[in-house]
Amino acid sequence: MGPQGDLFESFTLRELQDHLGAGFEVILTNNRGTVVSVDRNRFPARARVSRIFNFADSETIRQLSLFISGGGRLPTVVKKFIHEKAPAMNPRRGAGARLRTKGAVYDLGPIAARVWLRYFSGLLETRITWGKYPTHRPKRSRRRSIRYGTYDRDLDLVTIHPALDCARVPVEFVEYVVYHEMLHKISPPRVSADGAVRFHTKEFKAKERLFKGYDTLMKWQKENIWKSLAPAPERKKA
Ligand SMILES: [Zn+2]
Repeated sequence: MGPQGDLFESFTLRELQDHLGAGFEVILTNNRGTVVSVDRNRFPARARVSRIFNFADSETIRQLSLFISGGGRLPTVVKKFIHEKAPAMNPRRGAGARLRTKGAVYDLGPIAARVWLRYFSGLLETRITWGKYPTHRPKRSRRRSIRYGTYDRDLDLVTIHPALDCARVPVEFVEYVVYHEMLHKISPPRVSADGAVRFHTKEFKAKERLFKGYDTLMKWQKENIWKSLAPAPERKKA
């Protein structure tokens, strides 16, 4: 367990404990075979819950609590989480496009490994690569904005913008972007009543703030990002 691996853990434990109340004691395990078991022959009753649920969303945790307190069949949402999320923790290597982790300044391999260990207990990984600069330089847009990273659910792939591969960008900021994209892997988007899809939900933002030095990095970003990004490489004139 990384030094901060228990951040999500406290998140999950608090949610479970809130739902279950004082009649239950929750113990987190590294068991992937039996992801939840309940011993009601003691007081408080003891629920043993796999740490894979550290990466579950609030609704899954709520349904898991209902199962722990009420018994019966494992709720569909929980089953779905186990079947769809758990296997993705061991992403297939080498599938799809070639990955480029070694940049001019930063190597995403060890950077991602640190994030996985510190924030996801080494239990959750994705494929990761530096992105490419677009072949066609877009016309100077009035609003300056770039997407630091993206997460592709189908490929289980995090892509980081190549402008961040620059010594003026602190390594902590690159780590933060990796962390942010990893959160997209474990945070399902919410669809509101009017059909709008929200990716950065309240729950997402709460987890995002668990990143070490989050406030400092956001302040740095606001003040420095535009003078810190690597320029796009010169394109050859025809
Ligand atoms: Zn995002």
